[in-house]
Amino acid sequence: MKGIISDMDGVIYRGKQLIPGASEFVQRLLDSKAPFLFLTNNAEQTPLDLKLKLEGLGIHGLNEGNFITAAMATAMFLKAQNRKPNPTAYVVGGGGLINELYNVGFSISESNPDYVIVAKSTTFGYEQLKKAIRLIDHGAKFIGTNPDMIDPVEGGSEPAAGTFLAAISAATGKKPYIVGKPNSLMMMLATRKLGVQPDSAVMIGDRMDTDIVGGMEAGMTTALVLSGVTTMESMEKFQYRPDHIFNNVGEIDLATL
Ligand SMILES: [Mg+2]
Repeated sequence: MKGIISDMDGVIYRGKQLIPGASEFVQRLLDSKAPFLFLTNNAEQTPLDLKLKLEGLGIHGLNEGNFITAAMATAMFLKAQNRKPNPTAYVVGGGGLINELYNVGFSISESNPDYVIVAKSTTFGYEQLKKAIRLIDHGAKFIGTNPDMIDPVEGGSEPAAGTFLAAISAATGKKPYIVGKPNSLMMMLATRKLGVQPDSAVMIGDRMDTDIVGGMEAGMTTALVLSGVTTMESMEKFQYRPDHIFNNVGEIDLATL
């Protein structure tokens, strides 16, 4: 049986609503011997937050090790890249990201940091923008957790990491390196965390331009679910196809992936 890496938003839930069949799907994952991970571009929430969110929706039996977030992937990437004994970063973002950076030995600094790392922040303001720009101008490496411009929430759109990255990019003339989906680096880090080779893993998601392209480029089998942002019609417009298409995760038979 293949390892399973599954997106969450549009796959397991939509906003605060559980998607039909999602609970049964998670139960089948738990009952199977297949290694699995839930993967999200969200860099604000910790694995514990995500576990509690799913419990609130009636999904039990998961533990914190069953999740990988863009904040975790960013910390894993920086840990692998960094050659300095006491690396420093200036962070635009929340506790989830700062926590992951502490875990891999980073300290947070505003004076000449090695990196400026940007995620979604609900308190992002002029002073932070100015600081980030000046530090990058002085040579700090510019990193983004995920490229999402907006997060769709009840009542409209919320600006997300991509919007802040675009502002800093416009001011500095520098492009960030962005770790989250669709970068296949995130898929590769997820398969490594699972302990499986990419060709023995399946990426399940609702977006063609992140989940499916990222999974495909990482060499994974891909499965599109039509319970999120993609319809059969919009899927046809892409230059690439998923290996499997399902209406929702409730239809997935793990043995046939
Ligand atoms: Mg999604």
